[in-house]
Formats: sequence, structure tokens, C-alpha cells
Amino acid sequence: MAAKKRKGMRKAGEAPGPIAPPAMQTAEMPALLLAWYDRHGRVLPWRILPGATRGGHSTQERPDPYRVWLSEVMLQQTTVATVKGYFERFLARWPGIQDLAAAALDDVLHAWAGLGYYARARNLHRCAQIVARDFGGVFPESEAALLRLPGIGAYTAAAIAAIAFDARATILDGNVERVIARLYRVETPLPKAKPRLRALAEKLTPAARPGDYAQAIMDLGATICTPRKPACPLCPWRAACQAAQAGVSESLPRRLPKAARPIRHGYAYLMTDKAGAVFLQRRPERGLLGGMMEVPSTEWRIKPWSMKEAAAAAPARAEWRALAGEVRHVFTHFELRLKLLVGQPARLPRAMIAVAPDRLSEQALPSVMHKVLRLGFAG
Ligand code: SF4
Repeated sequence: MAAKKRKGMRKAGEAPGPIAPPAMQTAEMPALLLAWYDRHGRVLPWRILPGATRGGHSTQERPDPYRVWLSEVMLQQTTVATVKGYFERFLARWPGIQDLAAAALDDVLHAWAGLGYYARARNLHRCAQIVARDFGGVFPESEAALLRLPGIGAYTAAAIAAIAFDARATILDGNVERVIARLYRVETPLPKAKPRLRALAEKLTPAARPGDYAQAIMDLGATICTPRKPACPLCPWRAACQAAQAGVSESLPRRLPKAARPIRHGYAYLMTDKAGAVFLQRRPERGLLGGMMEVPSTEWRIKPWSMKEAAAAAPARAEWRALAGEVRHVFTHFELRLKLLVGQPARLPRAMIAVAPDRLSEQALPSVMHKVLRLGFAG
């Protein structure tokens, strides 16, 4: 006799969904996650509180908004392991928002060098100045007010509101998207699935301890519900998780295939004077690597440059010598390949500065320019 069809069972070939409520009641889930977080939450420098007894997971005290904001801006596009050192150095140098607001932009860019995405550093500085000047050095508490500050997008505003002010704000970063997509077995690929994931994440966000909950779900994604080989047996939400029950966790979230990153080409001009000082210039304030120092270069374009073309486009006259090898650097939207021309112009071109090799470390040079200098000095 054919087995009686269970309620909600899909026919073969049917697409999964609509999403059914998990076996565990949604209302129970935040408490389970918070209990896990109280035992296993990560101890991170920006979570440590004076007087906190559990690595900063205190429910009584809230972290300093300045520390939360600084860490969240640094964590955009950067790993926790990399951010830790930068966070501690920033805090030692600029312990409060007023200190950062009073700093020279160049010092901030220099301290940021190596973290990449330098628009973040410029916005960080502008944001500090606005909070210091317009808000008396106190961060606004609402997501809407935070969103109006430079460099604070939807994710960062929600993270600050939740973590620093314990507001019931829903954060949705890559970690949280992964957890939610698996929990509810959302098969729609990203980025199309985002609104659905947000709605599900919002529904789960509790009114009690929303700040700890935000950090808990981030930690779950970072340490248990990892992109590969999630540790489902250790997960507090195992009983509710539809992907784990179907054995498809690792395949979620789905993503549309990424378009190949285009390659752009250029020549950098490593110019020195007779004493060996290197000629640098500042990039325009707006745009990629805005306000950072650089070794001058041609336009970075799709069509490769010939050496003759590059020599003709140089910012100064010199006997140019091409170096073997090239610098490769990956930006978000393209990969850059830079060849090098070395020369000694008769004089320093306008708007450039000559920097002795032992003083180069004092300049706000992005990683790609460190690569250029390394290749230049090796050649
Ligand atoms: S049970 Fe596994 S797949 Fe599901 S949320 Fe937990 S770690 Fe992620």
C-alpha cells in the first residue's frame, strides 16, 4: 500500500519551499543561541569591558560606542585576525573619538596602510570630526542617525545600534546570511535572496539582549556555521536547521557565478634623485586609494601599454630603464598589473615630493605601492 503523503511533503522534482517554520519554535531560538554565546563567544579586544567577567559578554554593561564603531569599520572587508593589531594600535594612539577627530588625516591614512579600502580611513576621520563637532563626541543611538554619518552603511549602523546601545537592530553580514540561508534552507542564490534572508533574520532578532544576540549570531557564523565543513553537532540551532537535516548545509547559501575580474595594465615610474630619494605624489582625494601617496604611474587601462608609449607619457624626462617582472594587485573590481620604469629626472616634477628610502615607511602608501617599491629596489 502506498505510504500516506505526510503534510508538507514535497513531490519529487518540486522546488524547496515555501519555507516552513522550523521544528524548534522561533521564540526558543534566541535564548539557545545566547546561552551558547555566554559559554563560547569569542573574546575580542573591542568586546573587553572594564569589570566584565566573561570576556566582555556582560549583559549589564555595554561596550564603548567608539570601540564598536572603530572595530566595525575596520572589519568591513577585513578579517578579525588582521583587524586585532590595527584596532589596538589605533586605540593606543587615539583613545577617544576627540583624539581621532583632532588627528591629521595623513597620520590616520598612514596608520591604516595595509588594511586596504582607504575610503574607509578617510570616512573614519570625517565621521570622528562630525561626531566630535556636532554631537559633542557622543555617538547618536538610532540606526537612522548613524546611517547619516560618513562610512556607516546599513550593516554598520545596525551593528553599532545593537552592540553599543542594545537596540533591537538586525545585522546581516556574510556570516549571518550563511546561517539564515542554512537554517531555513533558502535555495535562492545571493544577492537575490537578500530581502528574504533579512526578513527571516529580523523575525528571529529578540527584544531581550539584542546586542549580545547580534554578536552571538556573528560568532556562530564565524566559528560553527563556517562556509565549509560546518560543525553542526556543536550548533545550538541544530534541531531547527533545515539544511543540516537535509544534509545540504555546505551547498548554501547559493551564489550566482561571479563575472571574471577584468585586468588593467599600467607602468609605474620609479624616479629617484642623485641621493636616491624616491619621488612620490598624492592621489586625488576622491576615487580609488584617494588621498594616499603613490609612485606615479600611467593610467590603469584594459589595453596593455608598450614601453615606448609609457616613456612618452612619463611625468618627467629621463633615461628610462624597464625592470623585469611586474606587480600584480587585486582590487575589488579589477586586477592591476604594473610594469616599472626606472629613471633619474633632472629635477623634481611639480606636486611631487622626494622621500629618502629610510623615510618611506612614514608615508601613507597603500599595499600596491609597497609592492612597486619592493620590485623597484630589488631591480
Ligand atoms: S546546524 Fe549546521 S548548518 Fe545549521 S545553522 Fe547550525 S552549523 Fe549551520
